[in-house]
Amino acid sequence: MSFTQFDFNPKIAAGIRACNYETPTPIQEKAIPAILDGRDILGLAQTGTGKTAAFVLPILQRMLKGPRGKIRTLIVAPTRELAEQINSDITKMARQTGLRSVAIYGGVGKLPQIKKIRSGVEIVVACPGRLLDHLRDKTFNLAKVEHLVLDEADHMFDMGFLPDIKRILNFLPGERQTLLFSATMPEEIRHLAEEVLNNPVRVQIAHSRPTATVSQVLFSVEQNRKMTLLKDIMAKTDMAATLIFTRTKYRAESLARQLHKAGYAATSLQGNLSQLKRQKALNGFKCGQFKVLVATDIAARGIDVSGISHVINYDVPATVDAYTHRVGRTGRASRTGEAFTFASREDRKIINQIERSLGKKINRNNDHDPTVDSAASSLPAEQPGKKMWNKAKKTLRPAGRKNGRPAGRGAASAGAGKQAQPPARHHKADSRQKGKRRAAMMTDTSGNLFLNP
Ligand code: AMP
Repeated sequence: MSFTQFDFNPKIAAGIRACNYETPTPIQEKAIPAILDGRDILGLAQTGTGKTAAFVLPILQRMLKGPRGKIRTLIVAPTRELAEQINSDITKMARQTGLRSVAIYGGVGKLPQIKKIRSGVEIVVACPGRLLDHLRDKTFNLAKVEHLVLDEADHMFDMGFLPDIKRILNFLPGERQTLLFSATMPEEIRHLAEEVLNNPVRVQIAHSRPTATVSQVLFSVEQNRKMTLLKDIMAKTDMAATLIFTRTKYRAESLARQLHKAGYAATSLQGNLSQLKRQKALNGFKCGQFKVLVATDIAARGIDVSGISHVINYDVPATVDAYTHRVGRTGRASRTGEAFTFASREDRKIINQIERSLGKKINRNNDHDPTVDSAASSLPAEQPGKKMWNKAKKTLRPAGRKNGRPAGRGAASAGAGKQAQPPARHHKADSRQKGKRRAAMMTDTSGNLFLNP
């Protein structure tokens, strides 16, 4: 199947080429024809499936005809990061169409947003709060909107935005095409869908599960051992870009600081940062300046950074849905990725729920011993074994970074305080080559999480 079957206008076909998309993803195959036909859509699809292009491309096609300089499409998204992401995707896909878009969200000045809208845009991508502010201020109106997209509706509900959404609906014309996307369908979203959609086409792409290209592994670890386990894994695993999730803003900030001190190119993305700092962190992660981004769930939905090789749930997420979205940050668009989850005793209940939703047990890793000290953690991953350990002991010293990883810095600090120890039992696994070790980690399905804490 190819994009040519949709008969897109050459200006939109150019946008598809600019994005390097060759074949439509399953959701695009199903949703694009229905949207081109003007139908409402109820899209049950998780992030990472290509759903942005699934709605943007046909909407652009439909907007080629009709007036310019009026807001004709409104896309509502729960987070600033997601709004920015959708806006930047539109900019790419619409480059040759002359259609213009703007992202509207709080935490930044209203004036530039007003100026941009007044300069003439046809598409607004907005977070609910700031959009309502503008509507109440009568900065602009939505009387000419033909297409409404409610993206990640379940997340908007989680964030308490449903009342705002309902208020926004009052500013829109009744005659319009409405597309609602949600990874899950809680009761409230089902009601919202009934209210806003008119005889919708239901497009369902797999039930809320991380994409099949992501290997998931669970590590049993007590709270106070997480940092040691994290450093151990990071030292031994070949990681490109790594996204680490914590439960609170404070923990994100503090973990990023500790990793930075340990020599990793790490930063944090969390709600305590100004919008400018959030953008800096995100851009730095995108361009590779930071190899590690420690984030709270606000980052889970909006980040579309290609090439995230690892997602680490340093804290288990509070909901199954959040797990799906966090893990969905890797393995995007058919790439492979690894998702590691650190779980302690208290997480037993939510882990059970996650596994029930996945329909299978997550692979356990009982190989990693989090009691390993940081000197051992910073040994070169390819050179374990007793002989190599002796060699490594001699070379424990601060060194430069490789792939954003410190080579020996942790070892130096640990070495200053205590005697370096020979490898513990689990280092038997280390005598294998790195690739083999990773494979072993992935296939270790035995054991119950809390049998051997
Ligand atoms: P989304 O679910 O919209 O967040 O998209 C996930 C990722 O898939 C993004 O990086 C998109 O650029 C990418 N993507 C979307 N459609 C395609 C396609 N047809 N072929 C390859 N990559 C795609």
